[in-house]
Amino acid sequence: MERITVKIGKDLAIGPGLPIVVQTMCNTHTDDVEATVAQCVRLASAGAQMIRITVPGLRDVEHIREISSSLRAIGVTTPLVADIHFSSATAIAVAPYVEKVRINPGNFHRDHQEAARQFSEFLGVCRRHGTAVRVGVNHGSLGSYITGLYGNTPMGMAKAAMEWLEMCMAENFYNVVVSLKSSNTLVMVQACRILQEMMEARGVVFPVHIGVTEAGGGDSGRIKNCIGCSALLSKGIGATVRVSLTEDPEYELPVASYLSQRYGGTLKSSLVSSVTDSGKVSARYEAPSRERLILDASCDWGAALLDREIDEVSFEGSIAGEPIPADFAEYLSDEILQASRRRFYKPEYIACPGCGRTMYDLQKAFAEVKAKTSHLKGMVIAVMGCIVNGPGEMADADWGYVGEGNGKVSIYKGGTPVLRHVPETDAPQKLLSLIEDSL
Ligand code: SF4
Repeated sequence: MERITVKIGKDLAIGPGLPIVVQTMCNTHTDDVEATVAQCVRLASAGAQMIRITVPGLRDVEHIREISSSLRAIGVTTPLVADIHFSSATAIAVAPYVEKVRINPGNFHRDHQEAARQFSEFLGVCRRHGTAVRVGVNHGSLGSYITGLYGNTPMGMAKAAMEWLEMCMAENFYNVVVSLKSSNTLVMVQACRILQEMMEARGVVFPVHIGVTEAGGGDSGRIKNCIGCSALLSKGIGATVRVSLTEDPEYELPVASYLSQRYGGTLKSSLVSSVTDSGKVSARYEAPSRERLILDASCDWGAALLDREIDEVSFEGSIAGEPIPADFAEYLSDEILQASRRRFYKPEYIACPGCGRTMYDLQKAFAEVKAKTSHLKGMVIAVMGCIVNGPGEMADADWGYVGEGNGKVSIYKGGTPVLRHVPETDAPQKLLSLIEDSL
């Protein structure tokens, strides 16, 4: 079995036996070089070991060059990752100027053969410049070629990734990390497990970048990320983590660092004891803080809930020496069951983290949509930052709320736009009215 180690720039490597690498992504506009450099400096000093920046088009390649040279000039050497969608020309143009490029080769071109030709050209450029690659496949953005064969399923995601990995191997290009992401923890975990099995059967295992995409924010976002990532890391899958939150990226890093330390063996759960009876777990914690209890409990029980080894979990014990309040214990249990997709006690929100493509104040929009819809238990509502990728990425959503730019929002029902160009000020109420009319 060959287990691949990937070199990212001069000083960072991802692979077997190495610490789990913590990464995040800028949410500044890439053409605002000053703001992006400032955010990269903050993220590097907060512990980011890799920073991803969106490169929406060819004209942003020059911005990436400026950002990279400004950072290097002030001694910030954190590897930069260019995030590319759709445009192979942009991927090829930016590859010489960054340490890694993330692509979804399936969306390079509608025609699979042409996408493969462009991918091959891209790999050639990466080889010449020592640039690493992430093949990043997302649930909801699979090509029609794959969905026709396997549907929009974990198997389809894994097959799509495996096909591009085979192409890398055929080209003798091994500096590749792979990711399969979904906002649905179960889909994400199943897809990564299937892919891992396929790679092992093939005899070549590439490092896996893990994360729950569009996980939303606050406690729910942290819990979803911990459940999805822990279910993989606890089985030895995952060499680098990006925790995705609809918050400023600085806030993603403590959660990603927690996962890296915990599954790197340098941090232990505050779980003291547990009793399981007929699928119901009663768990006792002595947690140093509310935040640690949330992360510990999500990692301790998420995988068993996803895998249906247990059905419920309840909490008792202490936080910083004080008894865990009963209402918080109940809330935590509800949140963990919902993030494990076992019982829905509120709407299921999908919200992207935002990036340089974001077309409106995403955090404000997400808060407004939640305030209007919090009573709609079980409904899946997506709040996405841009009209370019947002609609494709909200695969599971009953309703979608997508930033168009120029103060306007598009509202989607089941993946189809039902109202366009709604002023942002009216859009949360419009969304609620449309949902109520449809009930
Ligand atoms: S959906 Fe959100 S995270 Fe994805 S490209 Fe658009 S703004 Fe960026």
